[in-house]
Amino acid sequence: MADRDCDIALVGGGLSGGLIALALAQRRPDLRVALVEAGDRPGGNHRWSWFESDLTSSGAKLLESFRITRWGRGYDVCFPGVSRHLATRYRSLASTDFAEGLERLLSKGTIRCSADVQALDRDGITLAGGERITASAVIDCRGFEPGPHLSGGWQVFLGRHLRTETPHGIEHPVIMDADVDQIGGYRFVYVLPLGPSEIFIEDTYYQDAPTLDRETLAARIDAYCQDNGWTGEIVGTESGVLPVITGGDFAAFQNRQRIEGVGIAGARGGFVHPLTSYTLPFAVETALAIAEAKALSGPELAILLEQRARDHWRSTRFYRKLGAMLFRAARPEDRWQIFDRFYRLDQRLIERFYAARSTRADKARILCGRPPVPVHRAVQAILPGTGRGTMRSMVEGHPPPITSTRGQDNPPVPLHPRPAAGGPPPRSGEDL
Ligand SMILES: Cc1cc2nc3c(=O)[nH]c(=O)nc-3n(C[C@H](O)[C@H](O)[C@H](O)COP(=O)(O)OP(=O)(O)OC[C@H]3O[C@@H](n4cnc5c(N)ncnc54)[C@H](O)[C@@H]3O)c2cc1C
Repeated sequence: MADRDCDIALVGGGLSGGLIALALAQRRPDLRVALVEAGDRPGGNHRWSWFESDLTSSGAKLLESFRITRWGRGYDVCFPGVSRHLATRYRSLASTDFAEGLERLLSKGTIRCSADVQALDRDGITLAGGERITASAVIDCRGFEPGPHLSGGWQVFLGRHLRTETPHGIEHPVIMDADVDQIGGYRFVYVLPLGPSEIFIEDTYYQDAPTLDRETLAARIDAYCQDNGWTGEIVGTESGVLPVITGGDFAAFQNRQRIEGVGIAGARGGFVHPLTSYTLPFAVETALAIAEAKALSGPELAILLEQRARDHWRSTRFYRKLGAMLFRAARPEDRWQIFDRFYRLDQRLIERFYAARSTRADKARILCGRPPVPVHRAVQAILPGTGRGTMRSMVEGHPPPITSTRGQDNPPVPLHPRPAAGGPPPRSGEDL
């Protein structure tokens, strides 16, 4: 390894790349790691949040050196006519604090910013301008890349960090305030009290197209603030257009972005909760797995990560089915009813759902009872081969071509195994 510039080159200093670098620094301080980021600091402009129950104790330990906002007394959800308080502890990390933490915790020279990687291969990376950095292993952490092999919808949001003139009076995070006009899909407002006079307000939509109209969403945040009597200075904004994956051909997705001998981590590798679009718990687990790996050559890491991604895809099938129901069975203005019903369930079940660790009993519980969508549409939604949109474009304001995935050369893997000819169609409660 000494003949290379570094042992491991991480391409992309976002959430997954940064956490892998940190886990390696803690558990494999003997390794020389390069974290190469195109932006002027690691982490971009995000606020990542999670439930305490999403992480194992080693996962929580990995994050504990960052400056994290912690809410120890649970959170609220609100739906028309009903609200609920749940006791699960909630956490949040701003990307500025992530960047500060990485700079403090990683050895000098590990992070290289404003470095656009133009090419990567099993032996190293090439920057714009031609500089070559050789490495014994390269891991691609460049973020989610939409493509034709996955189907689904989108979670689109605009968030605002406000410093209020007077205390805002919100005590707990409000993870979903869906008691708002449902416009164009499932809409809710997400509110984080960051301090007595600091609040984060995000207007979010589960919608069919990846369009984000900043002006309109900003005006709706203004209206929400006005209704709550919050005025003050805007100290930050963030936006997101995230995939909600309801099906697809994961092997084809992997083939499309595979570079021989290069590992792929983070959202790009498919380490995503299909329905919430969250990646943090999986990014933490992946970082720990890499740092624990016995064999750290590029090809070995590539195999390890591909296998973990396939396992993750298999184990999250249930959430893709639910997403299919949300997008294909429920009319956009009725989608909130699915969440309203879900949030009446047991708190531990909800925790396991967010952590993508639902048990068979949880899955049966989520699906049993009178569905909040017409039964025939629910069954249709989860039948094989009914994937609707593909994820070609996430460019703001430019919806992707919504093409049928039926009859393609690479049709999406059915959400259920296809029944033998003449056999009964799968039912929504099967194989959970
Ligand atoms: C605004 C926002 C809020 C979110 N909130 C949450 C949340 O609360 N909880 C949660 O779990 N998930 C959240 N997500 C979803 C998901 O966790 C994030 O998108 C997460 O950052 C994905 O991590 P990643 O490392 O895969 O990609 P990213 O964090 O996007 O990192 C990719 C990095 O690669 C860099 N890069 C790309 N190309 C190159 C190149 N050629 N050369 C060098 N560098 C390159 C980019 O600049 C970027 O920094 C949020 C997403 C967004 C957009």
